[in-house]
Amino acid sequence: MKPKKFDVIIIGGGIMGSSTAYHLMMADPSLKVIVIEKDLGYEKASTTLSMVNARIQFSLKENVQISQYAFKILENFEDEMAVDGVKPAIFYRREGNLFLHDKKAESAAQKAFHMQKNLGCAIEWWSLEKIRQRYPIYENLDGIVGATFGPEDGHFDAYAVLMGYKARAKSMGVQFLQDEVVELLTNGKKDQTMHAIGGVKTILGETFFSSHIVNCTGAWAARLVKTAGIELPVNPVKRQVFAVIPKFKPDGPLPLTVLPSGFYFRTETGGLLLLGKSMEEDPIGFDFTWEEDRFELLWGELYDFAPVFESLKLIKGWAGLYAVNTLDANAILGEWPELKGFYLANGFSGHGLQQGPAVGRYMMELILKKKPVLDLSIFSPERVLLKKPIFEDGIV
Ligand SMILES: Cc1cc2nc3c(=O)[nH]c(=O)nc-3n(C[C@H](O)[C@H](O)[C@H](O)COP(=O)(O)OP(=O)(O)OC[C@H]3O[C@@H](n4cnc5c(N)ncnc54)[C@H](O)[C@@H]3O)c2cc1C
Repeated sequence: MKPKKFDVIIIGGGIMGSSTAYHLMMADPSLKVIVIEKDLGYEKASTTLSMVNARIQFSLKENVQISQYAFKILENFEDEMAVDGVKPAIFYRREGNLFLHDKKAESAAQKAFHMQKNLGCAIEWWSLEKIRQRYPIYENLDGIVGATFGPEDGHFDAYAVLMGYKARAKSMGVQFLQDEVVELLTNGKKDQTMHAIGGVKTILGETFFSSHIVNCTGAWAARLVKTAGIELPVNPVKRQVFAVIPKFKPDGPLPLTVLPSGFYFRTETGGLLLLGKSMEEDPIGFDFTWEEDRFELLWGELYDFAPVFESLKLIKGWAGLYAVNTLDANAILGEWPELKGFYLANGFSGHGLQQGPAVGRYMMELILKKKPVLDLSIFSPERVLLKKPIFEDGIV
């Protein structure tokens, strides 16, 4: 039997893996690329369990630029991903993001606001009067000093975007295989300069070889890299979303509204209101059980802020995993300094979906040794080894 050799092996076929595969083929259609994904139904992938929000409201310049690029890509996504004339429908709706700020957060929010403005983003600073005028149903503004509104922020259909990247990548020759990588194979010893990635072993007993392997395994990232002796500070953390039908029907869509406590909500089609909040006590582990009881906590926060929502019906909800980078809650992007040819696209915490387009392009640029259009070296894995966090205030 011939050894199964590839130019690039991508482990994990969520938004990061699929976008990386697409960008590689766009750059060089002669490449032999395989994506190994343990569940092509994506039942537990964060990509399909996300809130799918995209915003420029970050405090780190590079995170803003990543989202600016996503906005541009999403605008033309349906045309660009058409295969044989069939276009994905991604329902990209720019209904805005409204972040409310208290005194404690005011100066950081002002700083981020000016930086976003300087980068050419659509962003507005709202006074209390303006918030009341635009959203009179937001009655309780105790402790709030102002808000930032990103009118072009919004959301889209994550599954459609994922399928768009996949279909286009497949049409250019990428192989998507359902199997689980259980071991990374390396050449040489850890303290030697020739220590390099060589291949992967799968749960079905297959071995695949490549000198370029990309880890796009989301919340499962740390578990897999351990097989090559790498300690990655990425934890799977359960996050839950609740969908309710309120008795009160707002006049139009409500933006994703984020309170200083981190509690957030937005309207969805079908008269739904989606809400959630990252909590300290959210468990670490691969737990996907949705706990209906947790809703009571959030409900109180919702009707305290907007009493019109006191009466509502809980319809459904779900639990998914954030891949939380415990060093600094930001992406870890690039070649692992101690293992040549092994690339990481991990640790996106709760804002990775919107980063898919820029990360896919960046991984392609690193692998093919091209000059990056957007320098994302601030997210380099070196900072993990050096234990040097970067700072982002806009983590939700
Ligand atoms: C409730 C919730 C809300 C969110 N809201 C937002 C939001 O509003 N905006 C935003 O931008 N982001 C949001 N996120 C985060 C976002 O969904 C993720 O950052 C992003 O989807 C990560 O993509 P990924 O490709 O890295 O991971 P995933 O989509 O999880 O893909 C990883 C894939 O790897 C596969 N895999 C794992 N291990 C192996 C293995 N050993 N072998 C083969 N395959 C493997 C998995 O099956 C999975 O399909 C949210 C996440 C959650 C859970």
